[in-house]
Amino acid sequence: MVEPIHLPSRADRSAALERAGHNVFNLDSEDVFVDLLTDSGTGTMSTAQWAAMFEGDEAYAGSRSFHDLREAVEDVTGLPHTIPAHQGRGAENALYGTLLSEGDVVLNNTHFDTTRAHVANQGAEAVDCPVEGAWDHDSEGEFLGNFSIEKAWDVVDEVGADRVTVVVSTITNNSAAGQPVSLENLRETAQFARDIDALFVLDACRFAENAYFIHEAERSEASERASGETASREREAGQHDRPLAEIARAQFDDADAVVVSGKKDGLVNIGGFVACREESLADRVKARTTLYEGFPTYGGMAGRDLAAMAVGLREAVEPPYVADRVGQVAYLGDLLADADLPVFQPTGGHAVYLDAGAVLTDIPAERFPAQRFVCELYRESGVRAVELGEFAFPGAGRPQLVRLALPRRTYTREHLDHVADGVAAVADRAGEYEGLEVVTEPPMPELRHFSARLRSVPA
Ligand SMILES: *Cc1c(COP(=O)(O)O)cnc(C)c1O
Repeated sequence: MVEPIHLPSRADRSAALERAGHNVFNLDSEDVFVDLLTDSGTGTMSTAQWAAMFEGDEAYAGSRSFHDLREAVEDVTGLPHTIPAHQGRGAENALYGTLLSEGDVVLNNTHFDTTRAHVANQGAEAVDCPVEGAWDHDSEGEFLGNFSIEKAWDVVDEVGADRVTVVVSTITNNSAAGQPVSLENLRETAQFARDIDALFVLDACRFAENAYFIHEAERSEASERASGETASREREAGQHDRPLAEIARAQFDDADAVVVSGKKDGLVNIGGFVACREESLADRVKARTTLYEGFPTYGGMAGRDLAAMAVGLREAVEPPYVADRVGQVAYLGDLLADADLPVFQPTGGHAVYLDAGAVLTDIPAERFPAQRFVCELYRESGVRAVELGEFAFPGAGRPQLVRLALPRRTYTREHLDHVADGVAAVADRAGEYEGLEVVTEPPMPELRHFSARLRSVPA
């Protein structure tokens, strides 16, 4: 599918920004030229996916499209029981609502926002265990998304092993700059979960991108060996010659259950699923799915959408696709790094993360430097990015990040060159901007960045 886009005039962009209350979630997509708000559900489907949609079976129970999806999930992950959901958070509700009760503790390399919310919704506590340096754009290393076993043992010492009922690894680690998790770390995390008698869950929205990083880490190590250089980075021994699909599947070897938003590496615009190894757990998840999502062979999805996701999951691990995908993100990251802008490197699989706090140094965190950066980037170039800093996570003490997330199979290099020019132009005038303050916000503070309105105030 091809969709025309257009760049409104600078005056129109400024007017749109005012109407939106300096919050790009309030912009109409018609007013956006290159939309990097999110990679979730915003990609382009293939001819094979569209063809599969025409053959979607809309039966209420036991549809052919469900069986196609179940087979695809088993081929890709090795897990035999699939329960569809309308999107990732629906799958989270079905799984975590089944597994967790009041007072439980969940450990995760980093909880994605909706995961944290579902854990909290069960009266359980979400504790992050990222590795040292995960929040620092100066950090180097190939697997900064890893789960810290050391931190996890500290938490167990503090709260007691009995309370920690679920251990999660999020691949890639979306909230920590989309950084990958190594196979070795997945194995160690699974072993840790077994040691404390907890269930091991993979939040595997970006399983294909993560597998690609594992594959590439070993390749760079192999070529360094060949050229006589010593490899300084953490690496994955023996993964270089393995087919990507096999590495992808190996990631799931020790998982008891998996939650996936199909809007990422499912390559669809809507959908998700839970997959389980044991039938007994699957049966419990199905009961809750029936309550909140729908009959467990469709789980809130149309048959045609199940069919498209079945094809998308297989396409996601085709090497040319994923090399191009991760390569595009790296291309944009390199353009910005070459312009001396503070971006996380190596870049993650789905987005470039810019430390706007290190660019707009005159604006203190409570005046939202990253949100200012997002607004000025839109004014400058019609590019929509998103703030992940003090505005999105009030009081969390996180760095002031701007995320540029790339939709899959959508933009070209020319678009990315345009984005990089815009980012550089905003950074060039770093001393000239005012800060922002919130004028109106919704009742739930966790949701304020989706709809709050802001106004300019002196920094
Ligand atoms: C997107 C995402 C989710 C939630 O999925 P939705 O489809 O947006 O509901 C959960 N976990 C991670 C890591 C995600 O990136």
